[in-house]
Amino acid sequence: MKDIMDEANRCLNCKVKPCQKGCPLENDIPSFIKQVKENNLEEAFKILTQTTVLGAICGRICPHSKQCRGNCVRGIKSEPINIGKLESYVFDNAIKQNFKIETNDKLNGKKVAVVGGGPSGLTCAAFLSMNGAKVTIYEKQPKLGGIPMYGIPDFRLPREVIDETIKKILNLGIEAKCNQALGKDYELDELMEKYDVVYLSFGANVSSKMNIPGEELDGVYGGNELLETGKHPNYEGKSVAVIGGGNVAMDSARTIKRLGAEHVYVIYRRAREQMPAEDYEVEDAIKEGVQFLFQNNIVKALGKNKVEKIECIKTQLVKKEGEKRLVPVNIENSNYTLDMDYVVMAVGSKANKELVAKTGLETTDYGNIKVDERYMTSKDGVFAGGDLIGTKATVAWAARSGRNASEEIIKYLMEK
Ligand code: SF4
Repeated sequence: MKDIMDEANRCLNCKVKPCQKGCPLENDIPSFIKQVKENNLEEAFKILTQTTVLGAICGRICPHSKQCRGNCVRGIKSEPINIGKLESYVFDNAIKQNFKIETNDKLNGKKVAVVGGGPSGLTCAAFLSMNGAKVTIYEKQPKLGGIPMYGIPDFRLPREVIDETIKKILNLGIEAKCNQALGKDYELDELMEKYDVVYLSFGANVSSKMNIPGEELDGVYGGNELLETGKHPNYEGKSVAVIGGGNVAMDSARTIKRLGAEHVYVIYRRAREQMPAEDYEVEDAIKEGVQFLFQNNIVKALGKNKVEKIECIKTQLVKKEGEKRLVPVNIENSNYTLDMDYVVMAVGSKANKELVAKTGLETTDYGNIKVDERYMTSKDGVFAGGDLIGTKATVAWAARSGRNASEEIIKYLMEK
C-alpha cells in the first residue's frame, strides 16, 4: 500500500491531462489518482468505470510507455507515474471489496447479442448492461476473455485476474453462452430475429502469412494459433526462429524459451527502437535467453517436408518519402542460412475470411467487416467493432471500440 501511496503522491494532478490524451480509453487519470491519494478507492473505481471495465487487465498489459505513461509530465525530468500499477490496484481492490458499478435502466431490457467475448465484446456488453440492456455474449471458446485469456501468456497476465474481471462484468446481469461458434452452432440471421441488436466482436486472430517460399513446410507455425491453442511441439534442445517485433512475437519467443528450446531467435527487419513491443519486454526476453537479430529478415524456409534451415538477409533502414517510419531495405548479397527446427510467424493478424463470409456482410479491401461511422455494418441493427473492423490491435483500443459502439447502439435503441 505504501508504494501505491508514494506513487500516487508523485502525481502533479496536471490540469491539461496529457496522460488522459495518451490513453486509448481516455481514462480520467489525474482525477482517479487524486482519489487514490485521499485513500478513497471506491470513488477512484467509480471514475475509472465511466470509461473502462478492464482496468485490472489494461493496468497490467497495456504498452503504457507508448500510451498514458509515455505522456506523463513527470517523465520529462524523472520517472513518469506508473499509471498502470495504480489502475490495476484500484480494480483489484474493487473486486476484493465488491464495489458496485453504477447502472441505470435507460434501455429498459432491450435485448442485445454480443458475438465474441474478448476486450471489445466484454466492454460493449458491460456498457450496454450498465444502461439497462439485457445482454447475452456468445463465445466459441470454453471461457470468455478473448486474446487476454487465450493469447497472452500467464506469466504476463495471471488467469485469475482475467477470471475475476469477467466475473465482475457478468455480475452486471450479463448472460454468457460459451462453446458456441457462429456459423456452426447458430447463424447471424437467427440472432437478428431474437435480439434488437447484434454486436460482432469475434476478433481477427488468424496469423498473416509472409508469402515466402517454404512457408507451407511442417514446423512453420502462426504465432497467434500457437498462443491460442497452446499446442506446442517438443522444443527441448531445438532452435526456433520467431519472425516479427510486436507483442505476439515477444509472447511467442518467451513462451517457447520457457518450454525448453535451446535457441530462440527473434528476427525483426527494423531496429530495436522501432519495435512495437515494449522495451521492458525486450529486456525481459534477453534476460531469459532469447536472442535478437535486428535488421534481418527471413526470405525462405528450407527443408524436404519439414523446415530444416532458414535463409535470411540483412537490411538497412532508409528514409522514404511519404513514410513516417524508416523503411527496411534488403542489403544485396548479404544472405546467409541458419539451421532451424521451427519457425513462428508473428507478422500481423487478419480476420477469419470464411467466418466473415458466412455473415454475408460487406467487407473492406483488407477483409475486415465494413462499418459506418456509427459502427453499423451493411445490415441494419448489426454492429461490429474491435480487431474485426481493423482497430489497432491492442486490448485498450479494442475496448475503446467496444465502448464507442455501445454509445452508438444506445442511440439506435433509443430511437427504435
Ligand atoms: S501527466 Fe503524469 S503527473 Fe500529470 S496528471 Fe497525468 S499522471 Fe499525473
